[in-house]
Amino acid sequence: QEHQPGVESALEPAALHIRADYVGSGKLAGKKALISGGDSGIGRSVALHFAREGADIAILYLEEDEDAEETKRLVEKEGRQCLLISGDVSSSVVCNDAVAQTVKTLGGLDILVNNAGIQVISEDICSISDEEWQRHLNINVNGYFYLARAAVPHLSAGSAIINTSSINAFTGNKSLLAYSTTKAAELGFTRALSLELVTHGVRVNAVAPGPVWTPLQPASWGPVDPQAVADLGKSTPMERCGDPAELGPAYVYLASQDASFVTGQTLHVNGGMIING
Ligand code: NAD
Repeated sequence: QEHQPGVESALEPAALHIRADYVGSGKLAGKKALISGGDSGIGRSVALHFAREGADIAILYLEEDEDAEETKRLVEKEGRQCLLISGDVSSSVVCNDAVAQTVKTLGGLDILVNNAGIQVISEDICSISDEEWQRHLNINVNGYFYLARAAVPHLSAGSAIINTSSINAFTGNKSLLAYSTTKAAELGFTRALSLELVTHGVRVNAVAPGPVWTPLQPASWGPVDPQAVADLGKSTPMERCGDPAELGPAYVYLASQDASFVTGQTLHVNGGMIING
């Protein structure tokens, strides 16, 4: 039977955040990484790939849940430390504290991955309340700013910040007005901060995933429906959605010295969608 990673991942969500045959080669040996939203989906994939490449991990996530404990277990299975920090990224106090805890417990900070995000579908612009609009900005934009501002004083030359944006920043999405707005804002933030930090030897890049089967997608809630998985991926030339396991390696590249001449850029991981601009 033809390999359909999107479907397979959805049917076995716990197994496919990292391919069993992904061979780490110490690209991040000794590094300390803080990943917001590292407990599930794309963030968990990043955590497991970083760990397999030799990094210790801190994860800031919204609530005490089984996802976080399971991610910790999987990181520790890779032989790396995993610090779990529960808190809301829309609070600067929480973000300052998360960075301080990471530095104290892991002994430093070399890589920040801003990845925690929310996505709420809207009917049209008039149906979006002030609260819903602000919530998107508070989590998806302010959260990235608060964590980066707290992290920068700790980052030395060779360090990296990676911001998870989205294909929606480029294409827009009429059902995701607030979300698309925040995902584009994250790219402006990435570019401006990359210019500010370039003289410090700190690189700042973004990853723009296409559709990936994670709990962010309402269609993924409840029993898995292979048709819903197929529908989610229809917009891509590959005609499938991505596995979380297909995202982690892009973050490894941007975090490692392999990307030493790359900053202020967006890496598209989207099944072949062509982006203009
Ligand atoms: P996910 O739901 O598995 O992960 C989202 C994470 O964000 C969760 O781990 C949650 O703990 C965390 N989070 C949410 N609100 C938070 C808050 N207020 N404070 C702290 N943590 C909070 O979904 P995912 O798809 O892995 O999403 C990760 C990132 O990828 C998001 O930024 C999302 O916009 C982006 N993205 C996802 C897709 C996709 O199709 N899944 C596509 C493009 C971009």
